[in-house]
Amino acid sequence: MKKVLSSLAAVLLLLAVIVTVRASMLRSRQVAARPVTDLQVDARAAAEHLAAALRFRTVSRPDGLPAEPDQMAGLDAYLDQAFPRVHAALSREIVNGYSLLYTWRGTDPALPPVLLLSHLDVVPPESAGGRGWTVPPFSGRIAGGWIWGRGALDDKMGVVGALEAVELLLARAYRPRRSVLLAFGHDEEVGGHRGAAVIAALLRRRGVKPELLLDEGGLIGERLIPGLAAPAALIGTAEKGYLSLELAVRAPGGHSSMPPPHTAIGILAAALTRLESKPMPARIAGATAESYAFLAPELPFGPRAFLGNLWLFRPLAVRILESSPASNATLRTTTAVTIIQAGVKDNVLPSEARAVVNFRILPGDSIAAVEAHVRRAIADRRVLLSRYGTTATEPSGQSPTAAPAFQLLARTVREVAPGVVVAPNLLSGATDSRHYATILGVLPYRFVPMRLGAADLARIHGTDERLGVANFAEIVRFYAQLLRNGAS
Ligand SMILES: [Zn+2]
Repeated sequence: MKKVLSSLAAVLLLLAVIVTVRASMLRSRQVAARPVTDLQVDARAAAEHLAAALRFRTVSRPDGLPAEPDQMAGLDAYLDQAFPRVHAALSREIVNGYSLLYTWRGTDPALPPVLLLSHLDVVPPESAGGRGWTVPPFSGRIAGGWIWGRGALDDKMGVVGALEAVELLLARAYRPRRSVLLAFGHDEEVGGHRGAAVIAALLRRRGVKPELLLDEGGLIGERLIPGLAAPAALIGTAEKGYLSLELAVRAPGGHSSMPPPHTAIGILAAALTRLESKPMPARIAGATAESYAFLAPELPFGPRAFLGNLWLFRPLAVRILESSPASNATLRTTTAVTIIQAGVKDNVLPSEARAVVNFRILPGDSIAAVEAHVRRAIADRRVLLSRYGTTATEPSGQSPTAAPAFQLLARTVREVAPGVVVAPNLLSGATDSRHYATILGVLPYRFVPMRLGAADLARIHGTDERLGVANFAEIVRFYAQLLRNGAS
């Protein structure tokens, strides 16, 4: 017994030594950068421009057209007059009625260009009157150091921020060597099929293959990573896929006085319970694994030793990450039952029961793999499966962190926001960039340096969407520095 105990103690001691050594050997992956000092942005004037853009109600309808075409046209006209240098020096095309493509011709136009993406459309506020908002959602007000309004975080800060940056560089007589393209779709919130997909096809016909493709999607998280004191610039290097399936059960209707043991509702409910109890498998892989590899060296010893030794702690790490919906979504294809419909009257057997389940597909899984999993988990032939909606998309590829484009982004972030820790990240939502990725065959990055804490995340598509005035100036400086670094 004593011998067993002492050899167990020896094994534990050895493990502790290995864990400690490995944790202390983790090298930081942060790139060196000198703070930028020569890019002065007039924060107030920039905020006024963004606030004005927020006043246009550019909500997109499910069919991809603007709900109020005159509002979209109004925003286009506003952008054209608010940036006179951009108007004079760049060419501007209106694509498919409402999307915008700006071209800033480089001094060496044969080089692959830099392509910045944003979108002009917004989601509607939950109630038309903007109930729950501190200021009306389309009032575009500046108050208390914030720019308030629908689109402040998604995604007009990208549109106005990029234009503001080009205007700033033009005022300094800067000329890019590579051409710079700014592409603003008008239907991102409903899939980007009329905007981004059409612009990407146009660029493909022109033989454009960008050197750097940057879209929305990442952000600077403040106190978002447990244990990390520094703000974390999370650059999206992959995004999850999207699939909704309808589950339907049909049964003979009739009077409820002599029912079968299970009605259509009972059969469907049992199937949904089985599906929820068998989630798709979790794994720390791809962009998620890489994210931890970048963050671990920046953490205090405890969490660093934990994340730096996933060879030992992986099962425990999965258990911990699974316990919160946000981190669980980075580990697996998620399953969410979102719609259920059945029954018309209390004494009538339902002849049909249907439910819709939404899946966000982890890179590495696929639409086909999810469908096969659902069939296995339900294991009931009476439940009929079909695709719901038209927006099924496979998960994206993974944009490499070793690529010059990522290194350039990381350096630019740290030049503009010194002290920020940069890490790749998996997005659980979809962006316009996927159209460019498939049509142009380029791996995109997704990032805008807006600073958000955990409580702010709900403002995106939620109530009281707002961006800090100083933070918007930082976004403008980021785009300007990125163009200087990337297009010179
Ligand atoms: Zn967006």
